Amino acid sequence: MASAETTSEARGYSANKDQLQKRLRRIEGQVRGIQGMVDDDRYCIDVLTQISAVQAALDKVAQLIMSACAHACSSAWTGSACRPCEQRCRAAAAALSGDRPHTNTRWIGRTLAWASGNTCASRPVSAAIAAQGPGRVWTACPAARAAPRATIQAALHADEVPGLLVAQCLREQLLALETAGQLLGEVQLVPYANPIGLAQQVNGQHQGRFDLRDGVNFNRNHPELADAACAALQGRMGDDAKANVRRVRAALRDAAAALTASHPAQDLKNKLVQLAIDSDVVLDLHCDSQAVMHLYGLTPQAELCAELGALLGAQAILLATESGDSPFDEACSSPWLKVQEKFAPYPVPLACFCATVELRGEADTDHALARQDAAAIIEFLRRRGVIAGSPAPLPAARCQPTPLAASEPINAPRAGVVVFHQEPGAWVPAGAVVADVVDIDSGEVVPVHCVSAGVLYARIATRWATPGKRLAKIAGTSLARTGKLLSA
Ligand SMILES: [Zn+2]
Repeated sequence: MASAETTSEARGYSANKDQLQKRLRRIEGQVRGIQGMVDDDRYCIDVLTQISAVQAALDKVAQLIMSACAHACSSAWTGSACRPCEQRCRAAAAALSGDRPHTNTRWIGRTLAWASGNTCASRPVSAAIAAQGPGRVWTACPAARAAPRATIQAALHADEVPGLLVAQCLREQLLALETAGQLLGEVQLVPYANPIGLAQQVNGQHQGRFDLRDGVNFNRNHPELADAACAALQGRMGDDAKANVRRVRAALRDAAAALTASHPAQDLKNKLVQLAIDSDVVLDLHCDSQAVMHLYGLTPQAELCAELGALLGAQAILLATESGDSPFDEACSSPWLKVQEKFAPYPVPLACFCATVELRGEADTDHALARQDAAAIIEFLRRRGVIAGSPAPLPAARCQPTPLAASEPINAPRAGVVVFHQEPGAWVPAGAVVADVVDIDSGEVVPVHCVSAGVLYARIATRWATPGKRLAKIAGTSLARTGKLLSA
């Protein structure tokens, strides 16, 4: 009895089987050629060129299969459950049809899309390609690798569209810099970090913040690598700070490579951390509901956070050493802090700077703003030695960093209609009325006061409150909250 995998049911690509087999045989020959080159100790660059040719040829085969699959999905699978599958097939086929640039600027959203978007109602789609994951990205030449590496990802909460727009501007600006020979280090750009969330809809609305499978926030529960790295580093640290950085990087890479996942979102989180873990600079582009530019970072990296904040015009910079539930930025930056503490007094610099950049509110998509934000990020990379040229003078800071523990959540005391008294970016004095909640039975207007003085950096976009709902956040300095510091 044939298994489900070996039935004679026609696939989308069945009609092109001969053409596909011909291409695959040619690739087989090319791979044998590479084996011969390795046997003959040929130049590395020649071998790499051939490997690159095989990758391009495989891309073409994948593209043909995916295009056919997308066509089959749209014509044969008309049920709503298969729409995400159709979208993914089309997106993957479209991505594959683009040139894969052999440049320092990695353009890897497409491979993550394969890695995490490979099922639809338990029906595997291109699992073989998915298994390759982001390992297919171009590796920069050793000279470039010696310079710092940066990773920038957009929209980990998938529907945070300002980040998606800024990523496009970054792509354009980075490629121009590379063409001009200005790119010294390697930049990995993940233009949409969360293809799982991008495919999620409820009643026609995007739902990118939480995994609909289990309700877990996509920016929580990222892998914690410090314990594994510390165990591997035991007895191996020395007095040379640079050598220690190399050792810690290698230990973190090994720990990341050993990660396993039991569901797609965990697989995605693992892959994102694997991509970023040995970068010198990691920027995670998010946005809030209605907000001004603000950042989250690690307390001991306050100075770099302030520099990035000044460049971006941030109006709040919120620092913590542990904000709870392992957000992505801390998965990248805090292992260094833990290794530093564990192996004191050996010198261990915090060699990975990672910040969460909240690109204002979810509706703040504007070409000029996006170009301006991308230029600020490029300038930050220039200051880190990733990009050539003398840095411009730092703009005047619009705020000083404050503890995340002192950020005051303004919560609704009861259900009702929310009427805000304060706009995002307003400096609010202690005790001010931030909003009213209007009771719809009695008509009573209940003012909601803040305790702290500070900038109201974010507020909700809807105007109906349930009891306890977080309405706004103020970057205060007087509170000292404990426990989990981030909102849901
Ligand atoms: Zn977010």
